[in-house]
Amino acid sequence: MKTMSVNKVIAQPVDIKKAVVQPVNDDLLHRKNAAMDILRLDLIHPVISGNKWFKLKYHLQEALQQNKKGILTFGGAWSNHLVATALACAQNNLASIGIIRGERPFTLSATLQEVQEYAMQLQFISRAEYSNEAAIIPVLQEKYPDYYIVPQGGQSLLGVLGAADIAALTQIESYSHICCATGTGTMLAGLVHAALPHQQVIGICSLKIPDDENNSLNSFVKPYAANPKQYTIFYDYHFGGYARKTDELVRFMNNIYQQHELPTDFVYTGKLLFGVMHLVQNNYFQPGSRMLLVHSGGLQGNRSLPAGTLTYL
Ligand SMILES: *Cc1c(COP(=O)(O)O)cnc(C)c1O
Repeated sequence: MKTMSVNKVIAQPVDIKKAVVQPVNDDLLHRKNAAMDILRLDLIHPVISGNKWFKLKYHLQEALQQNKKGILTFGGAWSNHLVATALACAQNNLASIGIIRGERPFTLSATLQEVQEYAMQLQFISRAEYSNEAAIIPVLQEKYPDYYIVPQGGQSLLGVLGAADIAALTQIESYSHICCATGTGTMLAGLVHAALPHQQVIGICSLKIPDDENNSLNSFVKPYAANPKQYTIFYDYHFGGYARKTDELVRFMNNIYQQHELPTDFVYTGKLLFGVMHLVQNNYFQPGSRMLLVHSGGLQGNRSLPAGTLTYL
């Protein structure tokens, strides 16, 4: 990021051995006789952070195998996926194109400025056109035949299989619950796919969508579950919607950092921690439960907050 030169950051490989498991010692957890570990995927690389690397890796392999010139993908102004893709492409001598929803703003976000440093080419597409990704993909593929297209958020079978590899970083069988933040549901689907029969996977949804069995998120995840009870999605912890926040969430995140030296992002992992702690408080977990929370990274997105909002940054 800012403190590192571009060349240095490009030269630094992803190191999944840095994804330590951090136990959380907390009064509430002790009282409820529950144990919580955090898998720190945010530590594997300063830019290619968290779940984005896992969702990308088989797409990257595929692009290289198919001798593509580069990767084309989609994202918003503060997209963790875009910045991870831009740098991963730079590391693999692939070009990259980022398709951004909306008009080109006068001042680019820190994230979009950063992706350009990694040689990503930006193309802005009107909201009306962008709203139907399925329809624009064939058009883009025709325009850029040498580019391998990764769908938004890496949401595809290859993305799911990559995310399933997250489970192998831990003593996964020792946990009763695996918990993650959920956007497209790609990571959740991967963890559900990797889960053992005795485990329950919990997704805390960061978007404001109706709690409906047939919503697009659940429809995507369901086919990866051996049985429908293997996972549960909670829809009550979006704090106003995607990339929205409240003072309560910000206070909680600052507290978690102070108590546990655990930095979280306000779009995903802050809501994950809040949601799971709230469920603990409300006795959702049986005494003796052992939870693994996936810290899926995304801290760069905190740059969109006014200075001083978070005590760490
Ligand atoms: C993208 C992202 C998610 C959501 O992952 P999905 O696979 O789209 O559900 C969760 N956490 C962080 C930090 C992310 O950047």
